[in-house]
Amino acid sequence: DAKTLWQKDKDHFIHPFTDFSVFHEEGCDLITDSEGIYVQDAKGNRFIDGIAGLWCVNVGHGRAEIGQAMAEQATRMAYFSTFNNLSNAPAAELSAKLAELAPAHLNHVFYSCGGSTANDATIRLVHYYFNRLGKPNKKRIISRNNAYHGTTYLAATLTGIESNNWDFDTLDHLVTHLSEANCYRRPEGMSEAEYCDHLVAEFEDTIAEIGADNIAAFIAEPIMGAGGVLVAPEGYHKRMQAVCRANEILFIADEVVTGFGRLGHFFASEAVFETQPDIINCAKGLSSGYAPLGATLISDEIYEVLGTPQRKGGVLSTGFTYSGHPVSCAAALKSIEIIEREAICENVREVGPYLEQQLKTLSHHATVGNVRGSHFMMCLENVADKDTKELLPVEARVGDRIAFEAQKRGLIIRPVGHLNVISPTLIWSRETVDTAVAILDEALTAATESLKA
Ligand code: PLP
Repeated sequence: DAKTLWQKDKDHFIHPFTDFSVFHEEGCDLITDSEGIYVQDAKGNRFIDGIAGLWCVNVGHGRAEIGQAMAEQATRMAYFSTFNNLSNAPAAELSAKLAELAPAHLNHVFYSCGGSTANDATIRLVHYYFNRLGKPNKKRIISRNNAYHGTTYLAATLTGIESNNWDFDTLDHLVTHLSEANCYRRPEGMSEAEYCDHLVAEFEDTIAEIGADNIAAFIAEPIMGAGGVLVAPEGYHKRMQAVCRANEILFIADEVVTGFGRLGHFFASEAVFETQPDIINCAKGLSSGYAPLGATLISDEIYEVLGTPQRKGGVLSTGFTYSGHPVSCAAALKSIEIIEREAICENVREVGPYLEQQLKTLSHHATVGNVRGSHFMMCLENVADKDTKELLPVEARVGDRIAFEAQKRGLIIRPVGHLNVISPTLIWSRETVDTAVAILDEALTAATESLKA
């Protein structure tokens, strides 16, 4: 029963990203069932899932046909190596499908186990690429403060959220961080256009300092996710890419969150931000979270150097036991089929702006300093004072309070410090938006009251 399970969990399961003092006091919520836009806990409470599991269950919960596709593959051939010249049908099919969906020049796929390993593997591929080009000094990766790229050791160094690395070492000789693009907290008196100039100039200055000959790549999320759903100023990504091109620096888009429909397209880089990354990384929505999977989509130009017969010699000595795992690839193929069949990207393009508009109506609440994001990737930033943008004390745990009040009323949203993230399954209708926003409205009122107490 739930009580014994909870005890087993408490005694033996080390939860990721968890505050043990809170965990040991309050325990965990066992999520036992799910369907469509809902998940259910062991006590039988049903919640609207406002975070798509963890930005990943894009097609919604309980899709029996994904389960069946996985079961069929697992029963027929659950696993065999893809090293050397071995392969399997779902991995081959999925690679061709991703090449079809991605921007035209990205036609080659390297598989990993999730987002962190996709980013880690990408950097190894990038280093291998420059080594083969005879430019072994091009090693350094430019990332950004508050970026989130994962928690394997290199991905954690790419990550720019300071608190993530307080208790760990980082591989600082490989990574340099620029400022994040934070329009809400940009320097006083700067227009958005001037702010964009300022950020691009910072990149150019950094290149001048380190030397383009020592820099391999720039990595960025099209919209920063865990770092606070930060939408860069207009034109930022295009201009950063131009700087990359001028300096033979590869432009890597981390589309782990923005990919597979969250912003209304399979990939946001080209369709939304008008960039043509040399590499796009994805995970999460790739398989809608039904099985672990990550992928690095590589341009023809890079592939030409990495692996074509014309460049024979040398072994690409990197990869995972589970690179191209047949069951995960089968899940991804079915999830993509559903996204296409049910026109889920179109749903996001239709309902997304309505979600943005309705969330903005919550700005009258005392704590809501900023409502931002795009389509199904949204966030509330809570503050103590809307004019000065000063934060509430950490001990107020404002994000937790609001999430708690929302959950009590049947909606799960994600607290991230003083922020609340709303990143739902991509099958929300306008009616679901209305229900969710009404719950949030009540939750904000209750949380504001409890802050006064
Ligand atoms: N990149 C981005 C943009 C992410 O948001 C995440 C996870 O949230 C990752 C990478 C890491 O992915 P994973 O947790 O699957 O390793």
